[in-house]
Amino acid sequence: MGKYIVLLGPPGAGKGTQAEVLSEKTGLAHISSGDIFRENLKAQTELGILAQSFMNRGELVPDDVTIAMIRERLGRPDCSAGAILDGFPRTPAQAEALDKMLHELDGKVASVPYISVPTSILIERLSGRWTCRAQGHIYHSLYNPPKILGVCDEDGSELYQREDDQPATVERRIRVYFEQTSPLIDHYRKAGLLIEIDGTQSIEQVTTTLLAAVN
Ligand code: AMP
Repeated sequence: MGKYIVLLGPPGAGKGTQAEVLSEKTGLAHISSGDIFRENLKAQTELGILAQSFMNRGELVPDDVTIAMIRERLGRPDCSAGAILDGFPRTPAQAEALDKMLHELDGKVASVPYISVPTSILIERLSGRWTCRAQGHIYHSLYNPPKILGVCDEDGSELYQREDDQPATVERRIRVYFEQTSPLIDHYRKAGLLIEIDGTQSIEQVTTTLLAAVN
């Protein structure tokens, strides 16, 4: 049965950074809904053009669009053993759709690490975040700087600041998170799947705690 791990937490909690490492260590595919939207945006696909206005405003892309995209992604062969889900589900409707999809794929949500970080720290983290153009690797100008300024350590591509990491949009994204996504914390706690992790620890400490929790 496929093992699907849902990473929960506000924007800036470190989901993307940790999902990358977890994927490497467990061999499970890393599925980032935000990365898929950004790739589609870059390629100007129909999906990317549709998602663009929502993303730039810091709002969620509509559930039907997002669910269809994830359904297609989870159906690919590299997800048959399971996956690390980063940024999905983000609404109760998405969580319900995920359960149905995984049921069809003979899988289930195995655990839900919730990386918690206070809002004041989130804003600081997002405003210093640099993202790699080629594959979405993540850096921070102070807390996790690249070896060479503006260049990705992993693939040498250019680092850029996401448009939605601007202060006004960051505030909107955090508000959207509290309104639409945070109810999932209780949902997964009631299901006995939630593992709360202190996301203010160092990147390495969070990784160690996460690995112990999911294994
Ligand atoms: P992220 O990289 O996870 O912060 O996502 C960037 C943006 O993509 C979000 O602010 C949303 O506009 C959109 N997005 C990503 N994942 C989802 C999702 N599960 N549901 C709706 N919109 C999403």
